[in-house]
Amino acid sequence: MSHEVIQSTVVPIIYLVSTVLFIFGIKRLSKVKTARQGNTLAAVGMLLAIVGALLELGTVDYRWIAGGMILGTIIGAAFAIRVQMTSMPEMVALFNGFGGIASALVATSVYWKLVVQQGGAGTVAEVIGTDEAITVMLSILIGGITFTGSIVALMKLQGSLKNGQPILLPARHFITFGLLFASIVFGVIAVVAAGSDSVQWVLLLAGGALILGILLTIPIGGADMPVVVSLLNSYSGVAASMAGFVIGNPLLIIGGAMVGAAGLILTQIMCVAMNRSLLNVLVGGFGVTDGAGGGGSDEYTSVTSCGPEEAAMVLEDAESVIIIPGYGLAVAQAQHAVRELADLLKARGTKVTYGIHPVAGRMPGHMNVLLAEADVPYEELLEMDVINPEFKSTDVVIILGANDVVNPIASKDPTSPIAGMPILNAHEARSVFVVKRSLSPGYAGIKNELFEYDNTMMIFGDAKKVLQGLIGEVKDL
Ligand code: NDP
Repeated sequence: MSHEVIQSTVVPIIYLVSTVLFIFGIKRLSKVKTARQGNTLAAVGMLLAIVGALLELGTVDYRWIAGGMILGTIIGAAFAIRVQMTSMPEMVALFNGFGGIASALVATSVYWKLVVQQGGAGTVAEVIGTDEAITVMLSILIGGITFTGSIVALMKLQGSLKNGQPILLPARHFITFGLLFASIVFGVIAVVAAGSDSVQWVLLLAGGALILGILLTIPIGGADMPVVVSLLNSYSGVAASMAGFVIGNPLLIIGGAMVGAAGLILTQIMCVAMNRSLLNVLVGGFGVTDGAGGGGSDEYTSVTSCGPEEAAMVLEDAESVIIIPGYGLAVAQAQHAVRELADLLKARGTKVTYGIHPVAGRMPGHMNVLLAEADVPYEELLEMDVINPEFKSTDVVIILGANDVVNPIASKDPTSPIAGMPILNAHEARSVFVVKRSLSPGYAGIKNELFEYDNTMMIFGDAKKVLQGLIGEVKDL
């Protein structure tokens, strides 16, 4: 079969099949039950996409491609094997950044080859066409913003940048929007500039985009990082789609658009979950206080604590138990222990369900993934809207390493970093056990007055160790 026939018939069919696999893959990812299958479908789609792209290229020096794939596979596998479950959000942020910079580099290489090396005296728009010239500049702009924005998000998630708190520069809105406007102007001038004269404008555009990524992300802090990570995910998709236009690859356009749209939908879901508008999140600096937040003092005055033995005695008479997992459960890797406790309680006739807050943990769906690892039945995981009416009639709530998502201050103090965020109404249950190591705050850095409520008992310790203690006590009942 000639290369022309392969290009005109085989490759489009392969791309069509990959597109269908991506669509079904992403559809299946929307339900926990079918997510694994969705992941496999999308991975097969991606493999086909690579095969299609290689067939489309025809005779190329495969040594470079093989070298790149081997190097990429080694780096990717090393990251994936070594990453802790609790560091997954950082890894997602890093991958978003890599996606953004890869798209910008693809667009830059097309520009470099066709305009700077072979273009002659014409303007960029004349040499590669106006549409392509515009998409090259957009790829560089969006890809650059995504890259540095993701690196800043990664550092904030790690707590290595001002402990994740917002950094507010004076006149920041003026500087940011001024730089955005200037970057767009550099891009426009680059499109109409002649051949190699355009290089300086492209460099200015790239520099502007990289600084913009930093400026747009540093003012966002506190509990807003989930929204930013999913928004950056969306940007990386848009950048890939733009790169698809630049190299004329329909699959990259479709795949990028799907990531862009999925990221945007997730961003919207996260905004609704936190009761914030996207603009409000992006403007940043929300709820900035000197670390305390939520008005009042940071000190706890009347906290009651107990051990696993007392907790087991309360559980003995409980007819219904709701377990609320949070970030600390992931840190403690206590998912198997929690499943064991739940099984023991169920065997005693207690009704056990799990309350899942949409931003619990450090990435969307974190708790679902964690509990799925321990084969906790999907139907026992109830979302916030479903579980909240249940608390009033529940005997015992066990909060495992969760803090911000059960903090009643969210609905009381409009100056709190988590003001307006809907919470799991754990405090409405008859007895509440909070399992954590100390009275330290959660991600938002604020006091949780739930710890002082009359119906709350703290069980201090690592979630896994406390759960093991509880399991032993419940077995002895
Ligand atoms: P929090 O971050 O509010 O609290 C976690 C708690 O876990 C801490 O107070 C800590 O207390 C405790 N903890 C840590 N290690 C252990 C351990 N080994 N055993 C027991 N407890 C432990 O978690 P939530 O899940 O309640 O809330 C998530 C927060 O993260 C929200 O503010 C959300 O906005 C934000 N966020 C969410 C993202 C997402 O996409 N889901 C992404 C980025 C941020 P102690 O040290 O005393 O043990």
